[in-house]
Amino acid sequence: MIHFRGVEKHFGSFHVLKNINLAVHQGEVVVVVGPSGSGKSTLLRCINRLETITSGELTVNDIRVGDKKTDINKLRRDIGMVFQHFNLYPHKRVIDNITLAPIKALGVTKPEAERTALFYLEKVGIRDKAHAYPSQLSGGQQQRVAIARGLAMKPKIMLFDEPTSALDPEMVGEVLDVIKTLAHEGMTMVVVTHEMGFAREVADRVVFMDQGSILEEASPAEFFANPREERARVFLSRLI
Ligand code: ADP
Ligand code: MG
Repeated sequence: MIHFRGVEKHFGSFHVLKNINLAVHQGEVVVVVGPSGSGKSTLLRCINRLETITSGELTVNDIRVGDKKTDINKLRRDIGMVFQHFNLYPHKRVIDNITLAPIKALGVTKPEAERTALFYLEKVGIRDKAHAYPSQLSGGQQQRVAIARGLAMKPKIMLFDEPTSALDPEMVGEVLDVIKTLAHEGMTMVVVTHEMGFAREVADRVVFMDQGSILEEASPAEFFANPREERARVFLSRLI
């Protein structure tokens, strides 16, 4: 579903992504790990063209993301993204945060959008918060709203960029559990995280990035038991 072939990305003179080759297949969960500043967020953001690649080829469902002719809105409709900071509209109730995009971008009717929103709120375990404002929710609950909002667009791919990094430790589990459930249901996902327990349990593949390159791509069993790259070993040893 997602194919990077020799992708390069520069920010001015700074070479942020170097010869990225990566394929993510339907139903796969790929977890991206690596030190801060290694290019993980940039890699993710290229997939829905929040960043443009400098060269190489990047396709999502055979659509060339970098092509000027590509309908970017259509591309983004298929890709849900959840960030570290939940980016909910503070002046809108939970349910209105979720129905906004389906009504505006997909042309879904309001009752239909609300039914869908409640369905996904149920799925993330906070249907009872539908009429609350974001400020009335805990961080973990707000992030679950953000996930429900992404799902309400019925995306084919979900991207997560450190979805639990801004949360108090006691709320990390509830958000990871939601992501785990999606994984088991076959959602195609790319997840950037520092939660190695989650990576080990949920990832089909772990991708290790450092200084803009993918240094290692392995099954979690291989990666955690016996990382091939010295820099991956150092990275893992520092986490504990
Ligand atoms: P990570 O998510 O792994 O921490 P990022 O993809 O956010 O890494 O950033 C990789 C590098 O690119 C960092 O050195 C960062 O400072 C730089 N960078 C990120 N975004 C920009 C930008 N818009 N302009 C210039 N440099 C950037
Ligand atoms: Mg990042």
